[in-house]
Amino acid sequence: MSIQQVGIVGAGQMGNGIAHVFALAGFDVKMTDISADALTAAVALIDRNMTRQADKGLISQDDKSDAMKRITTTQTLIELGPSDLIIEAATERETIKTAIFEDLVPHLTPDTILTSNTSSISITRLAARTDRPEKFMGFHFMNPVPIMQLVELIRGIATDEATFKACHGVVDKLGKTASTSEDFPAFIVNRILMPMINEAIYTLYEGVGSVKSIDTSLKLGANHPMGPLELADFIGLDTCLAIMNVLHDGLADTKYRPCPLLTKYVEAGWLGRKSKRGFYDYRGDTPVPTR
Ligand code: NAD
Repeated sequence: MSIQQVGIVGAGQMGNGIAHVFALAGFDVKMTDISADALTAAVALIDRNMTRQADKGLISQDDKSDAMKRITTTQTLIELGPSDLIIEAATERETIKTAIFEDLVPHLTPDTILTSNTSSISITRLAARTDRPEKFMGFHFMNPVPIMQLVELIRGIATDEATFKACHGVVDKLGKTASTSEDFPAFIVNRILMPMINEAIYTLYEGVGSVKSIDTSLKLGANHPMGPLELADFIGLDTCLAIMNVLHDGLADTKYRPCPLLTKYVEAGWLGRKSKRGFYDYRGDTPVPTR
């Protein structure tokens, strides 16, 4: 199964990073989003990030200009139909993702592999809404995609071996490392990471510590490169809440209940870095804790 044309749905934090690494690895990338602004911002950000890599000598100017030429954008989802591989990286909501796959299916080639970058939603359930559950799997990148080495590959119950091997080969070609997870809520990384972040938010909610003391404690006391609240802002608080809800609903255990303070921040539209406010306020030169 040869993969050259890659379609990416969603040009947000993850979509732009995914387009970046695929284009640099020599794939032809077509990226779509319902928002024209998101597409424009994504291409500008990829350009800036590749310039930074070139300035550091990690890639050459030719690598950058060749990669930028391989990226095209469209607001018309079905133009991704002829792709060899499609990676859905739209907002973490099941209804949005199933609608995207249902709209795409009539326009795909028989061999197109469908994947989702979902952080937590059942791959088997998403696959069942398509015409090709055997050619469907989870392709879960970490944020920021150009820097993080891991890709979690998640097989749905019906995913066939050829699809798994083709996706594994793509991860190798990207120069990244694949880990394999079974299809249970939030897979491996987020099954472990998100309850820790949620517990940090409970620690804040119950007044055990301030934003600064919680983040400093985990950075200096557990040798984490980022504090859990800083990391939550980086991931996006809406995404964190969505993942906690999937864990809570999918595993039916109260230990996964989302902290009410997390819900309140999301209700306020304080989604972290992407909306300039979360557990820190990013509107000034340096982030200021909001509690
Ligand atoms: P984001 O909010 O930055 O971007 C989502 C994008 O999807 C937006 O640009 C939005 O306009 C677009 N979108 C929404 N509906 C669409 C539709 N119907 N068609 C096309 N585009 C649509 O979110 P993100 O952080 O990039 O997350 C995207 C996916 O990646 C989610 O499934 C999330 O769980 C997963 N993920 C996120 C992280 C992270 O750290 N943020 C890490 C790994 C995986």
